[in-house]
Amino acid sequence: MNHPVIAVRVGQWLDLRPHIRRVTANNPSAFTGPGTNSYLLETPKGWAILDPGPRLEQHFDQLVAATEGRPVACVLVTHTHPDHSPLANTVADHFSVPAIGLPAPDTGPQDRKFAPTVQPFDGQQLETCGGQVTAILTPGHASNHVCYWHALSNTVFTGDHINQGSTVVIDPPDGHMGDYLHSLARLLTYDLDAIAPGHGTLIDDPLSAINWLITHRAQREKKVLDALRSTNTPTSLSDLVPAVYDDVDARLFPIAERSLLAHLIHLEELGEARSVERKWQALQGYS
Ligand SMILES: [Zn+2]
Repeated sequence: MNHPVIAVRVGQWLDLRPHIRRVTANNPSAFTGPGTNSYLLETPKGWAILDPGPRLEQHFDQLVAATEGRPVACVLVTHTHPDHSPLANTVADHFSVPAIGLPAPDTGPQDRKFAPTVQPFDGQQLETCGGQVTAILTPGHASNHVCYWHALSNTVFTGDHINQGSTVVIDPPDGHMGDYLHSLARLLTYDLDAIAPGHGTLIDDPLSAINWLITHRAQREKKVLDALRSTNTPTSLSDLVPAVYDDVDARLFPIAERSLLAHLIHLEELGEARSVERKWQALQGYS
């Protein structure tokens, strides 16, 4: 079935499909695209509000308005980056419902104030959300990342695991490329109708979107290895980035450098590369 793409519009809620409502926060940036998507998912116990987003008073008001006074069952958090979870406890407290998600890890920019009342395990069917929502642990973009499968719409809500319109940053040490690739492959086991990303519009061809991401990361990793092998001397990240990301605007190199590091760590784990005093070298032919 073909669905029209519903463009992102900040503020007012939008019904994307039956049982899925989106409210985009007014926090556009290079990292957040048009802004962070919060979602309301219909469940037999009322709304599940997913990723309430940044601490913006206007966004809180818009989320409350989007419920249209109907019951709220739970609040879901995909991860604790500052554009996803800071409003979560406020919204959960407002409706006196549990906040579900994993607490912030110690490294990197995180919303360490997020206090989950339920910490889901992988595959857990969340009874507090009317039994219609299942947690899928998807570390990679963040070590505490959780996607949620909503049975009623057969949609996975991917937070920053999968975004529409851009690839996501994998920022070590909390971001981990090996975990990320494994977490992407896990979603292939679901026969989904749609992916609802944390940024951008609904993705209605999930299988090809996930396969494209896996292929894209594999091609990037091959470029990293080729760049390492083209020189036999240990090379710094800043010297590698223009060769590996020659298709990317140079202004984005500082961000690309983080994902490059994630690829290098992955290659090291695979026994293909090693680091020598913050420089990197291919292992093949190394003696
Ligand atoms: Zn994130």
